[in-house]
Amino acid sequence: MSIKNNIAKYRQNLPAGVTLIAVSKTQPIERILEAYEAGHRVFGENKAQELQLKYETLPKDIQWHMIGHLQTNKVKYIAPFVQLIHSVDSLKLLLEINKQAQKVSRVIPCLLQLHIAEEETKFGFSQEEVTNLINSEDFKQLSNIKISGLMGMATFTDNQDQVRKEFRTLKIFFDSLKNISLPSTVSMEELSMGMSGDYEIALEEGSTMIRIGTAIFGERNNY
Ligand SMILES: *Cc1c(COP(=O)(O)O)cnc(C)c1O
Repeated sequence: MSIKNNIAKYRQNLPAGVTLIAVSKTQPIERILEAYEAGHRVFGENKAQELQLKYETLPKDIQWHMIGHLQTNKVKYIAPFVQLIHSVDSLKLLLEINKQAQKVSRVIPCLLQLHIAEEETKFGFSQEEVTNLINSEDFKQLSNIKISGLMGMATFTDNQDQVRKEFRTLKIFFDSLKNISLPSTVSMEELSMGMSGDYEIALEEGSTMIRIGTAIFGERNNY
């Protein structure tokens, strides 16, 4: 299957209200352009400098999402243009995003990443940490960020019940936040969950953003 056909297939089958993020990390410009020419405009990357380079090289109507772990010293590379940062996993990072956003007179939309997998290697907050964070005094000072939802990555396993359970836990937390009073900079609109191997389960469990790499572009070269 060509990239063009894959994009068409995903876009046709996407439920209303769900955004497809084409994860183009490690992919060369020509392959991203193929997806662009098929009409796709929303792309995700997981490295700040690679993202910056691709932003500079590719058409300016692309919406770039940062989906990978972000180091504070790299925020400056993407602050001027990034559409959404999915992977906010510390207050320190949020403070830096706010600072860099201020410098470029922007309000940067972010998602808070929850640790929902069994694996310890995956980044993210616990539910309790999120609740404490959004109620903290530090958080109230941040006027150049907007929290528009949550993100999570399920355990990498063939056990579909486990994956479903993890997504469901995240959705329940997402809904519980919708039902309490939140600071004005927080609104629970987007729930980013699901990748090539588990997006169908994620959609059944209420995802609003799926992040698809290999199923669109093919296998990545490891790097
Ligand atoms: C690489 C990546 C994806 C896409 O993974 P595929 O299995 O290739 O679809 C999604 N989310 C994050 C955070 C990633 O790093």
